[in-house]
Amino acid sequence: MKETSNEIWVFGDYRNYFQNRVTLQLLARASELAKDLNARVCAVVFGYGVDEWVGEYIAHGADCILVTDHPDLARYQIETYVNLMVRLIEVRRPEIILVGATNFGREFAPRVAKRMKTGLSADCIGLDINEEKLLVQTAPSFGGNLLAQIITPECRPQMATVRPGTFQEIPHDYERTGEIVRVPMPEDLPRESVHLVRSERSAQRSQPLEEANVVICGGRGMGSRKKFRKLIELAELMNAEVGATRPVVYANWIEPEALIGQAGKHITPKVLFSFGISGAIQHTAAINNAEFIIAVNKNPKAPMMAMADVAIVADANQVCTAMIKELKSRIR
Ligand SMILES: Cc1cc2nc3c(=O)[nH]c(=O)nc-3n(C[C@H](O)[C@H](O)[C@H](O)COP(=O)(O)OP(=O)(O)OC[C@H]3O[C@@H](n4cnc5c(N)ncnc54)[C@H](O)[C@@H]3O)c2cc1C
Repeated sequence: MKETSNEIWVFGDYRNYFQNRVTLQLLARASELAKDLNARVCAVVFGYGVDEWVGEYIAHGADCILVTDHPDLARYQIETYVNLMVRLIEVRRPEIILVGATNFGREFAPRVAKRMKTGLSADCIGLDINEEKLLVQTAPSFGGNLLAQIITPECRPQMATVRPGTFQEIPHDYERTGEIVRVPMPEDLPRESVHLVRSERSAQRSQPLEEANVVICGGRGMGSRKKFRKLIELAELMNAEVGATRPVVYANWIEPEALIGQAGKHITPKVLFSFGISGAIQHTAAINNAEFIIAVNKNPKAPMMAMADVAIVADANQVCTAMIKELKSRIR
């Protein structure tokens, strides 16, 4: 094991700052862990014109900010960000790196871990320091049925992504001060092999899936993208949000943000409609806390039907179409 500096790093993902508080939550937990290790908490910030976030992170618990501010970093690009992070780690050798388990974090952190030949515990819901001063990373496993406690005794840095909402952020303190280390952009950083041609926002959700009272979730049993999109029409009529299983997301019937399950979002709606979903544990682990489930499936023996409060044995498209027709007739 190579010598490390006594630093705990939190990657500063400031995009969508006011909704996405996970960086601040991680800074709070890192500050507590730092006491056990007698370590410093550093926020790593990449971007262009990012001084605003530097101040925010100090006010929320960072002792030090490692900031690279450069026009090439104005837009998030995975290869550049990973290359830069790896360079920084090689120079400063942090003991621990924490990243939010957002779409960004799930893309970024495993690449960094692979390059550093170290471990990464994904989607942690607990972080502690044990008697050997190692980071204990608690993560759900086997579809949430078990909680695994993972340590990284040999490789460095110890790395984890952490689910948003796991920890409480420290209230903003304008009086706090911290060190700001300006890290220049290396001139020889390898160039991106992928060039972004255009980007556009996906359809705005009226509310986050995790907070929706009514969720309509669709699976492969919907049959096609066109048929699946009817669920979106139904959701609009019901003021609901749409979620999906992994095959649906992989087939590009809906954007990845809609994924419900072990690899996606955990939801707690009052009412959950489940259309054409078999009920694999990787999916149901994330809907256990739904209050009332109505499932539609051709197969009465599908596990989803056993989990449902109301199980309708029928063609999912026919039920969806009938509901749309009925709701429209009531609105007129
Ligand atoms: C490491 C790992 C992580 C994973 N993470 C996730 C995750 O986060 N989320 C997730 O969803 N999956 C995840 N999966 C995949 C998961 O195991 C299942 O493969 C997936 O959930 C199945 O999706 P589905 O129910 O849409 O499709 P299927 O299992 O194919 O089920 C389709 C269902 O539709 C029914 N059906 C077919 N036609 C109709 C019809 N016309 N009307 C009504 N019903 C019909 C069928 O009877 C069947 O029950 C993961 C897998 C692994 C290995």
